[in-house]
Amino acid sequence: MRKSRAVATIKATCPACGDVELTPGQVQVLINLEDQRSSYSFRCPGCHVTATKAADDRVVRILISSGVGIRPWHVPEELSEEHRGGAVTWDDVLEFHTHLYGERGSELALLELHQTRR
Ligand SMILES: [Zn+2]
Repeated sequence: MRKSRAVATIKATCPACGDVELTPGQVQVLINLEDQRSSYSFRCPGCHVTATKAADDRVVRILISSGVGIRPWHVPEELSEEHRGGAVTWDDVLEFHTHLYGERGSELALLELHQTRR
């Protein structure tokens, strides 16, 4: 005889829709491997936007015990790269677009954009 197991309902708040009810499969616990801070995220069933919220140890324990999966993550290395030059402007984007759809192709467009920004 098979016993049916009740699925936990998780209540969360979407920034746009307000309170929503989710199943454990719709939520994930995110653990930042650099600083061990945790958060959880879910895709709102109403507006389909992904919301991410900070979670303390108590919330993490409750979510995990409800069957929510854990996803460890690293901060993208790009965030620690040194950036030189000014911010990309609309003119840069337009110029890149012009190069990209010109005769010479995308690799040359990137090279030319890189050279004009030095
Ligand atoms: Zn929503």
